[in-house]
Amino acid sequence: VDALDTGRNIAGMSATGRLKLLLPPAIAPDYHLRLSKNVAALGWQVRSQVAIEDARHRSGWALLVALLVCVIAAGGIATLIARRAEFVRQERRARAEALRLERRVQSRTADLRKANVRLEQEVREREQAEASLRLTQAELVQAAKLATLGRMSAALSHEYSQPLAAIRSDAEIAGMLIERGRAPEAKVNLARIEGMVTRMAEIAKTLKGFTRKSGTDIRPVSLRQVIDETALLLQPQIKRSNVRLDIAVPGEDIIVKGGRIRLEQVVINLLSNALDAVGGVSSPQVRLALYREGDVAVLTVSDNGPGIHAEDMPQIFDPFFTTKDVGAGLGLGLSIAYKIVHDFSGSLKAANRDSGGAEFAMRLPVADQGVLAAE
Ligand code: ADP
Repeated sequence: VDALDTGRNIAGMSATGRLKLLLPPAIAPDYHLRLSKNVAALGWQVRSQVAIEDARHRSGWALLVALLVCVIAAGGIATLIARRAEFVRQERRARAEALRLERRVQSRTADLRKANVRLEQEVREREQAEASLRLTQAELVQAAKLATLGRMSAALSHEYSQPLAAIRSDAEIAGMLIERGRAPEAKVNLARIEGMVTRMAEIAKTLKGFTRKSGTDIRPVSLRQVIDETALLLQPQIKRSNVRLDIAVPGEDIIVKGGRIRLEQVVINLLSNALDAVGGVSSPQVRLALYREGDVAVLTVSDNGPGIHAEDMPQIFDPFFTTKDVGAGLGLGLSIAYKIVHDFSGSLKAANRDSGGAEFAMRLPVADQGVLAAE
């Protein structure tokens, strides 16, 4: 087989010889593959020409398709690789995260364990504190009970000391009078003693009624009589302390509804406090005044003592509040007086006077004239 022209040898095949593809140098629209073969038996050389344009076309498409497939495959592989890498990265991240989480859980568990131990200790401490608090409370209650008992017994002696002193002096006078054969005159003192005993019984009733509503025995009371009897009762104390006691009562008596002895107790407490207050004053003065303000009876007790300290003012009516020395005051006088006056629908107020000293004002509703007539 010869080379038929100067074209390039692009492929070769031979049965007995060589197959050559000869391409023309010029641009030929139709490419053909010329094939020749010797048929030895016949002594022929068979030449044939095959158009290759279609094959070239197809091979171009096949190349394009192959290229496209390659690109797609490469893209797919690249995506797969990228995904795999991402997956590996994610897995690594997840593992790291899990590890961190585990470490955090471990440290948190340790913290919790520590906190638990602390809490248990705190609970134990609290239980101990509670137990000791309960013990202290019980001790305090016991101490308070004893203190109240002490105060109550002292209060009783305080309330009884005035009438007891008066009874003693009346009994002595009565004894002396009888000795001298003036028995009829002693009767006055004995009658007074009887009055005091009644009064003491009444005081006991009042003290008993401190915790419950008293005032069942309410009747019209002459305030002038209350004042007279109180002044009489305090006469020895007034004389001893050299105090000038002024009593200003209106010409017409004022009647209120209440208990005579209990109202006397109020006036005695107010006067005793005023006498105590003027103890250190050069010209001690106590004034008791009674007047009417419409339907209200007003009884005031004022003194020229030091007055009441502003910080004490809100507490002076509290039971057991006192500014006096131990033994001298129990802080019960004003609280009892306050309760009595309120039981009779009245009021008791304290104030300091502009000119110095304190003033206590008891206000009670004046008794209805109809009630008085019925009595
Ligand atoms: P006590 O006389 O036993 O102290 P009170 O209840 O009668 O108890 O009085 C309470 C307190 O009120 C007194 O300790 C005193 O501080 C004050 N007080 C009462 N009256 C007067 C007064 N006239 N002047 C100044 N302070 C007074």
